[in-house]
Amino acid sequence: MTTDSGRTLLTWFRATACIALLCMLPVLASAQSAAPTARWYYEPQFEPPEHQVDMLHMQLELAFVPEEGLVRGTVTHRFTPLRPRVDSLFLNAPGIDVRGVSYRGRPAPFTTSTEGVTVRLDPPAAWDRVDSITIRYEAHPRRGLYFIGWQDTTGTSRKQIWSQGQGIDNRHWIPCYDEQNDKLTTDVIVTFATKYQVLSNGALVSSTRNADGTTRWHYRMVHPHSVYLVMLGIGEYGIEHRRSANGVPLSLYYYPEWRDRVEPTYRYSAEAVDFLERETGVPYPWGSYAQIPVQDYLYGAMENTTATVFGDFFLVDQRGYLDRNYVYVNLHELTHQWFGDYITGRVGRNAWLHESFASFYPKLFQRVMFGEDAYQWARRKEQETALAASAKNRFPILHSGAGSERVYQKGSAVIDMMRYTFGEEPLRRVITAYLKKHAYGLVETNDLYQAFQDVLGLSPAWFFEEWIYRGGEPHYQVSVEENTLAGAQRTVFTVKQDHPRDELVGLFQMPIVLAVHYTDGTADSLRVVIDQETQTVIVPNPAQKAVAFTLFDPGSWILKGITFPKTFDQLRAQAARAPQMIDRYDALAAMRTIPADQKRSELIRAYEREVFHAMRSEVVTQLAADAHPEARTLLHRAVHDRAAEVRLALITSINGIGEEEQAVLEPLLADSSYEVVAAALRKLSRRFPDALRSYCARTANDGGVGNQIRIIRHELLAGAGERSSLDSLERLARPEHEFRTRVNAFEALRRLNHCTGDVVHSLCDAMTHANGRLRGPATDIARHFLTTSVNRSVFQHELASADWPAWKRDMLRAVIETE
Ligand SMILES: [Zn+2]
Repeated sequence: MTTDSGRTLLTWFRATACIALLCMLPVLASAQSAAPTARWYYEPQFEPPEHQVDMLHMQLELAFVPEEGLVRGTVTHRFTPLRPRVDSLFLNAPGIDVRGVSYRGRPAPFTTSTEGVTVRLDPPAAWDRVDSITIRYEAHPRRGLYFIGWQDTTGTSRKQIWSQGQGIDNRHWIPCYDEQNDKLTTDVIVTFATKYQVLSNGALVSSTRNADGTTRWHYRMVHPHSVYLVMLGIGEYGIEHRRSANGVPLSLYYYPEWRDRVEPTYRYSAEAVDFLERETGVPYPWGSYAQIPVQDYLYGAMENTTATVFGDFFLVDQRGYLDRNYVYVNLHELTHQWFGDYITGRVGRNAWLHESFASFYPKLFQRVMFGEDAYQWARRKEQETALAASAKNRFPILHSGAGSERVYQKGSAVIDMMRYTFGEEPLRRVITAYLKKHAYGLVETNDLYQAFQDVLGLSPAWFFEEWIYRGGEPHYQVSVEENTLAGAQRTVFTVKQDHPRDELVGLFQMPIVLAVHYTDGTADSLRVVIDQETQTVIVPNPAQKAVAFTLFDPGSWILKGITFPKTFDQLRAQAARAPQMIDRYDALAAMRTIPADQKRSELIRAYEREVFHAMRSEVVTQLAADAHPEARTLLHRAVHDRAAEVRLALITSINGIGEEEQAVLEPLLADSSYEVVAAALRKLSRRFPDALRSYCARTANDGGVGNQIRIIRHELLAGAGERSSLDSLERLARPEHEFRTRVNAFEALRRLNHCTGDVVHSLCDAMTHANGRLRGPATDIARHFLTTSVNRSVFQHELASADWPAWKRDMLRAVIETE
């Protein structure tokens, strides 16, 4: 799964006790102890749940009353006992109204609780025999299945039904064994009004029109998968069909009026399948693959087997593509079709076996499609995220308390280090063998470890130990001196591991490259294992060349902190000549504290020379406040930089804008990137308020993702006294709009301090919304408004007068009456 920023939420972790658990563990007397580390990740409460029967097949038949949020279902589970005799069966079904149960075709007694339904099996089910139960039920799920827009009477909202099963939410609309340590085949049969498309997992067996204006859709999975991956998507869509090189049929869903967005949204979709088949060595494991966008989606996307759901904010046009596109998330969810769906962790605590791989392969795909620089940059961003997480705690990747930054970014960076340490092709062979051995099955981290043993004859215990089973990262203090010993000149690196060590984090052992670059353009390098607290590495320099700069870990493969002081001359040489982009970037970034007069010409040269956008963005950012004519000339050139990222860095960072620069910067109001237009509109309107109305007129045709630009325009005009713009903002905040537009509108209203009865009504709806990314900001904004007594009375009036269901009223009261 991914959030829309490309990061992912782990709703499946139910690890509330894990932090306390870690704190209560006895502390070892010695930090150097070689005590087994299983205690850092072995958590008895996260063993796979026990179950008495093996679920084999689920047939689900569904009909809906969407206006009421009602599901009418019949589910048949076929199973075989895992015990000699099973006389009752419990299925998760919280909030589901069970209408009848049959066992072996005859009515069976059952009891229900807040958690589910228990069916008495009489006669008991027995070993080596396949049995089945059928449950008829109704539900008004508030989780797991979401009804969008069916109560909108304005005709603005789309009308959809879609599911989100991971972690354990499918149980709210399907009575089932809702744990990931059982895999089953599925048939999903849905009857719905004919004008809507219905998508579920697997192959479409049939779609049959009924006389009553409905169609009966039948989808079938012939390979087993876990229940959290069962999905449903219903709405009005067009479908574009493509095929991968090996013939995998791809169904790309889109909103019919947005046909032009198909190409930018789904760019590289077929290439992605080819890439993953090549990299994993395993053909796409399922017969077909569909992707469907939905409104108000809770996260970024979800890898339901053969049928990924994603937020419709990723349905971008050619311009939106420049700011934030679906390519990475597309790859992420597709990777899960292997890592997560084809092989599945026995419990959520194995999340890294899904998410780290689903983060790693998109990064590798970037290298194939966009080049080595993009790959290095993506890796650096992951490393930064992982290191920031360590400032909070140092849970191992494998611990239930690891958090998304470790399960996604750190794990992906660790797989990169596997690639670096063991080699690209060896790792590929390990992964292929690991996938094939556990095809359509369940895995643990040890299964990957064993694949190293089976395929390469290696037992990389040290690697798994320091990067997966234990926490933290190394911090290296590096210094370099040139000296002569017995007449031989040499470059001496002194490396210290100076990170705090305790029972959780020890000294790290890693092969690291140390490179010496000379002024004549040549270089020497050594790859040595650094595993001591203090270690000296000597690079001989028999030709007595002059050293220009030195590198520790060129290419920045190792996840690490580093202190490595360098002179300005060394930085200048490194920025100009280091072979890899990320090393040149580090040299530029190290110049941030150096006065502009000293570094200006070096930065300008870097801007001229560098191909990758992050390098030019760094230059622009460092010179953004520099009034020197040469710096201003460069900033003015950056208005027309070919990379949207650089133009965005320019308009967000530039300051000290002179009168004469107004005309120079105004072209950014017509930029191809929406983000650049939005930033320019704000910045230039603030700097040149007399031109505000003209700027709004110039951008009048731009909406932007989530109506971002439209809302900025209304905010600026409302701030200038335009009443109709306030009305427009109030309208855009109403429930019939998709959540991004609403959040943008609410934020504008907060900045304008505009809190009317209509705004409060919209806020109250948003504060009780299923989507946390609407609910959270709306609640914060409500709290802000509630700080004045005038607004407080508006909220209280809303609570007293409007017709909120009891559960929503409770949620609202919890905010309104405690402020
Ligand atoms: Zn994921």
